[in-house]
Amino acid sequence: MSATRTIRGAVLNTMGAPTPYASSRPLTVEDLELAGPGPGELLVRIEAAGLCHSDLSVVNGSRPRPLPMLLGHEAAGIVEEVGDGVASVEPGQRVVMTFLPRCGECAACATEGRLPCERGSAANAAGTLLTGTRHLSRPGTGEVVQHHLGVSGFATYAVVDERSVVPVGGDVPPPIAALLGCAVLTGGGALLNAGRITPETSVAVVGLGGVGMAGLLTAVGTGCRVIAVDAQESKLATALEWGAAEAMTPAQALERKAEASVVLEAVGHPRAFETAFRLLGLGGTLVTVGLPAPGALAEIEPLQLTAKAQTVVGSYLGSAVPKRDVPAFEALWREGRLPLERLVSRTIALEDINEGMDALASGEVIRQVVAFDGAPVTTA
Ligand SMILES: [Zn+2]
Ligand SMILES: [Zn+2]
Repeated sequence: MSATRTIRGAVLNTMGAPTPYASSRPLTVEDLELAGPGPGELLVRIEAAGLCHSDLSVVNGSRPRPLPMLLGHEAAGIVEEVGDGVASVEPGQRVVMTFLPRCGECAACATEGRLPCERGSAANAAGTLLTGTRHLSRPGTGEVVQHHLGVSGFATYAVVDERSVVPVGGDVPPPIAALLGCAVLTGGGALLNAGRITPETSVAVVGLGGVGMAGLLTAVGTGCRVIAVDAQESKLATALEWGAAEAMTPAQALERKAEASVVLEAVGHPRAFETAFRLLGLGGTLVTVGLPAPGALAEIEPLQLTAKAQTVVGSYLGSAVPKRDVPAFEALWREGRLPLERLVSRTIALEDINEGMDALASGEVIRQVVAFDGAPVTTA
C-alpha cells in the first residue's frame, strides 16, 4: 500500500441537524488522512462533485448511514495512482465515479443492471469500499471516517475501487463528467433501461431536480413528447425551455388528466409516487427512482393497474451498467443531443457545502457542483 496523504474533505458528524444547515453546520470541512490505494484500488484527484438528494438524505437522516462519513457520490477526477492489478484505467485518465460498484461476480451482477450488486450494496451500507477496506481517518485521534457509497467525493482526493469508476474522454468538462455518474445515469438510465423509451414514447417526468431534469433531457434527446411536472413554477418554465411539450404542477396534471406511457418519478416522496401513478396511461410503465424515507407508504388504486394493464418498476442507479451506459451518455453529450451543461446551476467552494445543502433542500437549484483546484466558482 502506498503512502498516506493529507486531504481536505467534508465530513458529516450528525444526522438530522436542524435547518438551516448554514447555522447548524452538520458537515465540517477538515484535514483527513487518506491511506493510498491497495490492490484493485485507485487514487483520484477530485475535480468536481455534485450535490445530490442522496447526500441530503444522509444529512437529514432519512437515509441513515454510519458516521462520521465523508459524503459525496457524484464526482469526477483524474487518476493519480493505481494499486496492484489495476488494468482498466491508467494515471492521467479522467474518470467518472459511480455510486454502486458492480463486483461482476454475484447473481445480481448477471442481470444487465436490473438488480443492484449484492456486494456493492453491502459495502455501501457498511461505509467501506467494495473490497471492505476503509482508507479515511482523522489525524491525531486516528478515528475512522466512513466512505460514502464507495466514492466520498466531497474531498480533494479519493481512494476508490477500480469497479467504482468509468473512464471518460479528457474533453468532458469535470462538472459534466460528475453528473454522468449519478444524475444522468439515474434519470436517463431509468428511462432508457427500465422504461425502454423510443421516439414514439410519451413521457412524463415528476420531479425536476437534477435526476428528473437529466431524465427530461434524455427523453427530449430521444425524440419523445415530454410532460414535465413539478410544484415549482420556475422549474416548469425551465422545462419548457429545454424541450418539454407541456409543463404543469401536480395539481394541474391531475385536474387535466394528463397521461403518458412512461412516467418517471424522481422525487422520493409518497405523494409524488401517487401523482406519478395516476398519470399512467393504458399499458403504461411507472419507473420510480426516488428514495422515500424507510416506512413511508403511498396509496394507489390496484384496480387501475389491472384494468389498464400497467407496470410499476423500481430502478436503482437507472438500472444501468455503468461501463456500458456512461460511454453511451458521453457520446450523446458529444453529439449535442444531451446538453448537460444546462443542469449545472452553479459551482460552489467546498467550504460552502452546508449552504449548498440548504439550497438543495429548498429546491431552488437543479445541480450545484463543488469545484476543486481553483476552478471558477460562480457563487461564494
Ligand atoms: Zn446521487
Ligand atoms: Zn455483484
